[in-house]
Amino acid sequence: MQKHRYDVVVVGAGGAGLMAALHASKSVSTAVLSKLYPVRSHTGAAQGGIGAALGNLEEDRAEWHTFDTVKGSDYLGDQDAIEFMCQEAPATVYELEHMGLPFSRTPDGRIAQRPFGGHTNNETGRPVRRACYAADRTGHMILQTLYQQCIKQGITFFDEFQVLDLILVNGAAAGVVALELATGELHVFHAKAVIFATGGYGRLWEITSNAYAYTGDGIAIALRRGIPAEDMEFFQFHPTGIYRLGILITEGVRGEGGVLINDLGERFMERYAPTVKDLASRDVVSRAMYLEMREGRGIGGQRYLYLDVRPETVNKYAALDGRTNPDGTPYQITADDIMAKLPEIIDFCRTYLGVDPITEPIPVQPTAHYAMGGIPTNKRAEVVIDEENTVMPGFYAAGEVACVSVHGANRLGTNSLLDILVFGKQAGLNAAEFARQTLFPPLPADAADFAREQLERLRNARGREQAAEIAKEMKHIMFDLVGVFRTEEGMREALDKIRELKERYQHVQIQDRGKVFNMELLHVWELGNLLDLAEVTTISALARTESRGAHAREDYPERDDEHWLKHTLAWMREDGVKLAYKPVVITKYPPEKRVY
Ligand SMILES: Cc1cc2nc3c(=O)[nH]c(=O)nc-3n(C[C@H](O)[C@H](O)[C@H](O)COP(=O)(O)OP(=O)(O)OC[C@H]3O[C@@H](n4cnc5c(N)ncnc54)[C@H](O)[C@@H]3O)c2cc1C
Repeated sequence: MQKHRYDVVVVGAGGAGLMAALHASKSVSTAVLSKLYPVRSHTGAAQGGIGAALGNLEEDRAEWHTFDTVKGSDYLGDQDAIEFMCQEAPATVYELEHMGLPFSRTPDGRIAQRPFGGHTNNETGRPVRRACYAADRTGHMILQTLYQQCIKQGITFFDEFQVLDLILVNGAAAGVVALELATGELHVFHAKAVIFATGGYGRLWEITSNAYAYTGDGIAIALRRGIPAEDMEFFQFHPTGIYRLGILITEGVRGEGGVLINDLGERFMERYAPTVKDLASRDVVSRAMYLEMREGRGIGGQRYLYLDVRPETVNKYAALDGRTNPDGTPYQITADDIMAKLPEIIDFCRTYLGVDPITEPIPVQPTAHYAMGGIPTNKRAEVVIDEENTVMPGFYAAGEVACVSVHGANRLGTNSLLDILVFGKQAGLNAAEFARQTLFPPLPADAADFAREQLERLRNARGREQAAEIAKEMKHIMFDLVGVFRTEEGMREALDKIRELKERYQHVQIQDRGKVFNMELLHVWELGNLLDLAEVTTISALARTESRGAHAREDYPERDDEHWLKHTLAWMREDGVKLAYKPVVITKYPPEKRVY
């Protein structure tokens, strides 16, 4: 077994991991491990934009961005972290610009900005242009730009190394254990500080916008090492996934003027959110769509609606809304404008649906999209492990795997790309500072045993269960019973079934006994992670008897600040999942009722 030694080991090569590595490697030896080749990370799929109050097209302020984020979070976000992120946003976008990121531009050469759900001028309540974008390939450009900088800086990458375990010594991080996909060999990485930046776990649901790699590895590994997961009941469903496939149609489509239409041809969001309409926050739009479909107004009575971005529709509603350009002239778009601003979306629809959005509306349904919960951290990206926010020395997390918590119960569009960069940088800087001040912890001789045992157990299981069948049932249950709307009865049923599936998982059959690129073995290991997260998510959601942000209980439809203005912490113990709670950090904005 090979051993390696670096001051800082970063797990994950998406936006958060690369930003962490760039900043850590300036002062200490740094390695990045990634199960995917770095530029295949999910950050590359992000379309719509990154939020920053640059005010390039109209007045905007970091304080408005802060308040919108607090309000969007349904008051569950920690306000100290939100304020920090929104204040850092303009400098972060300029840092990317200076690295060479090709942002779309205004006619006078500044970074272009577009409206996105929940981003408003706090004085007028109207949508504000805050999302900086590179057409509808913003994440792709971020990932490519950061990766180029990492290569330029000579950072060491271990591509296609899947981390299976976190090594802890005396309650502090001391490294990770990883499997090299090409050889099937285990490697031990000894480190002074470890940064997890492994992304989300949307593959838990049947219809999802998330990449196949989104199996929650980081959270599951931490849970197995006694570290809690925070706010796992909050998972965002994006309103506009391509019907049946889940592939995302960016909110930027509605930002450019696209509208949602039901079977009667009504722009139904007018009824649910009279001021911001189609640009209400995602939880609100997803629920409105469900209600429309439940009441039989899905297209042809089916479980989808139309997203209409045809120029004539956009221009009609823009005129009715009195929407104007920054110079005060009426807002009007042409087919060429749509092609220039949303080329990828047009391409997806033509390729996967055979639908041309310039001449036809797009069939859409809500799709599982984003994990608000994750490994608890503070705003220095240090992992905190209990109700008192005790820091675990040497362990950091950033990006979608972490819960810092800037998104609270619901994330605003464009705030994740911002989060991964702002807190990725914090993780890199603070892990490097920690590493400079400490010696290497001792490395236990049995460091790789737990990872090896997990793989051996799977490899030697002699049962008849099919992993694909278990996965299918799990995804279906989660989508149906722990999805956009939830009830006690439904979630109890889900929990029973998940436990049954976990039991069946013990007898899963693996055909491939080889070592070289044994993807079957790793996919089965990943399914184990998803099953653990299914249980933790459902138990956290069952306990929360209120509706807040993305967590909508039909049996408890109101937000209940008196009892539930608090974060959930869930531990995976021998005898089951244990829950505890910690307060939300409130600085300037006491909870108010959300008005749309
Ligand atoms: C389709 C889509 C569109 C989106 N659009 C936007 C948008 O417009 N604006 C916005 O703000 N947000 C958007 N988001 C959300 C945002 O893109 C993601 O939340 C964010 O990019 C996550 O970044 P990350 O660095 O945390 O993770 P990722 O970019 O997913 O990187 C995770 C990394 O971890 C590695 N990894 C995972 N597990 C392991 C393991 N066990 N061992 C080793 N390596 C591992 C992977 O190889 C990968 O390199 C979108 C998300 C999706 C799915």
